[in-house]
Amino acid sequence: MRSLNFYERFSRTFRENPSLSRFLVVFAVSGGGLVAYSEANVQTVGKIDELPEAGNEKKRVVVLGTGWAGTSFLKNLKNPSYDIQVISPRNYFAFTPLLPSVTVGTVEARSVVEPIRNIVKKKNVNVDYWEAECYRIDAKNKKIYCRSSQDDKEEFVVDYDYLVVAMGARVNTFNTPGVEENCHYLKEVEDAQKIRRTVIDCFEKASLPNLSEDEKKRVLQFVVVGGGPTGVEFAAELHDFVSEDLVKLYPSVKNLVKITLLEATDHILNMFDKRITTFAEEKFHRDGIDLKTGEMVVKVSEKEISTKVIKTGEVSTIPYGMAVWSTGIATRPVIMDFMKQIGQANRRVLATDEWLRVEGTNSIYALGDCATINQRKVMEDISAIFQKADKDNSGTLTVKEFQEALDDICDRYPQVQLYLKNKQMSSLVDLLTESKGDVAKESIELNVEEFKSALSQVDSQMKNLPATAQVAAQQGSYLADCFNRMEECTKNPEGPLRFRESGRHRFRPFRYKHLGQFAPLGGEQTAAQLPGDWVSIGHSSQWLWYSVYASKQVSWRTRSLVVSDWMRRFIFGRDSSQI
Ligand code: FAD
Ligand code: MG
Repeated sequence: MRSLNFYERFSRTFRENPSLSRFLVVFAVSGGGLVAYSEANVQTVGKIDELPEAGNEKKRVVVLGTGWAGTSFLKNLKNPSYDIQVISPRNYFAFTPLLPSVTVGTVEARSVVEPIRNIVKKKNVNVDYWEAECYRIDAKNKKIYCRSSQDDKEEFVVDYDYLVVAMGARVNTFNTPGVEENCHYLKEVEDAQKIRRTVIDCFEKASLPNLSEDEKKRVLQFVVVGGGPTGVEFAAELHDFVSEDLVKLYPSVKNLVKITLLEATDHILNMFDKRITTFAEEKFHRDGIDLKTGEMVVKVSEKEISTKVIKTGEVSTIPYGMAVWSTGIATRPVIMDFMKQIGQANRRVLATDEWLRVEGTNSIYALGDCATINQRKVMEDISAIFQKADKDNSGTLTVKEFQEALDDICDRYPQVQLYLKNKQMSSLVDLLTESKGDVAKESIELNVEEFKSALSQVDSQMKNLPATAQVAAQQGSYLADCFNRMEECTKNPEGPLRFRESGRHRFRPFRYKHLGQFAPLGGEQTAAQLPGDWVSIGHSSQWLWYSVYASKQVSWRTRSLVVSDWMRRFIFGRDSSQI
């Protein structure tokens, strides 16, 4: 009885004081010899009875989605003057970069998720959560139509003052016949769990005594469709699982296992540096992973995948036991319907401005995978820019006038800065000099036509941001910061000059800061591409990967679970129980 009391008190102390558990984890982890640096945000603890009363004057902000974008928004929101309602069919946040590890049990599913109520309960902001999916957005009447995720599928309507759409995207099957019915996806935690069960299923089935050799081979043929980072990482994890753990447990069938990776373009990991692509392709070749590039899947049936060689049109079939489809994302139907309402029917992806506000609306924001920023072109505003910069209304622009407007131009149109950087020009004056020929810099004066021609190429630098957790999380924290300082910035706008109207924008536009990306390739080797095109491949990057992914966990609870899963795997290997 006495020891139970002690245990209870001990456990409660840690649960109520996150900083203590943090201390315990660091202590335990460093005791194990693993040093993972942490840059996790310290969450401020606000007691529930200290919360300000939710009055009618509070603006209601509805957040759709508890993924990277929605969670980052909620974590960073500190302004208590909003009434926040979160609606998502998933009552937890999932750390998607570790999903490939979940598919083979390198990390357990529960180690990569955190209940959303846990994340928001500590805030001094009034946050309610409802487990439901939004099936219609009525932008005109500012209403959200929702359907509960419970069995009864109860429907309800929610009003909003501001709407934050962060509902991610769906898997893109490119309407390939049979994919939906026969392939696994790797998008959600449930997908990863299903894959894990199916892999073991395939091994158990192939070990049964009554199967022919050909049938055993088919069952142990694993096909991964899509050579992007997710497909590649999954293929690598599967290869490790088979070669490190399963071969010892299933010796009779180990030689029949085959992993095939299909990619429609000529190379895998296209978004990475060439050195990484080459290394990955060579490593997969050495590992015996069958890499088929330049081939697209045209049909999937229950036991066979039909592919077409893009260059020759030649069609062939691959018998398979399990197929994982990982070829990219597409817009959710509810967003498509919303796009029709607001005049974006002809677009493929929901467009926002540079402040993440949905184009064609004034109180709806969209972030993460469900939207793209439609960066305004310099050429659309070129005459207005010229007029604003030409302070003396002389009809010409001097270097001095130009330089005075420069910060605002670069703030509003980041492609200008990018263009100068890529052309290795130190300033816009170089751009003007280039267009004007060999004249002394100070004496340059441009008329509007010359100005247009000097800037005519800058828009070519515009690129859409990738659909990654990094972008989604940065957008979430940017938008939270805007909401935190809404009043302050309405009084004193801090954004760039409005070139077409008077005054300034309230906020600075969203700027993405790329922190680098990883491609784990199996065998404790990872490729890392860090800013400045710094590339590192091998075991040292794997340790960097461990430290970064440990530090990026959303809570100290998941961080300790993930680190202990890694240690468990090092010591005991992965578990292959069929549960
Ligand atoms: P999501 O994180 O997908 O969240 C969407 C949320 O909306 C979910 O909570 C969902 O339940 C909810 N929702 C869905 N429909 C509705 C609805 N109708 N109403 C209300 N809510 C709804 N990115 C990286 O930067 N690095 C990586 O290493 C990396 N690895 C990845 C590995 C895998 C296996 C996967 C699948 C993705 C990976 N990504 C990675 C990409 C990254 O996960 C996404 O870019 C990121 O999740 C996008 O965040 P989001 O908030 O827009 O969407
Ligand atoms: Mg002038």
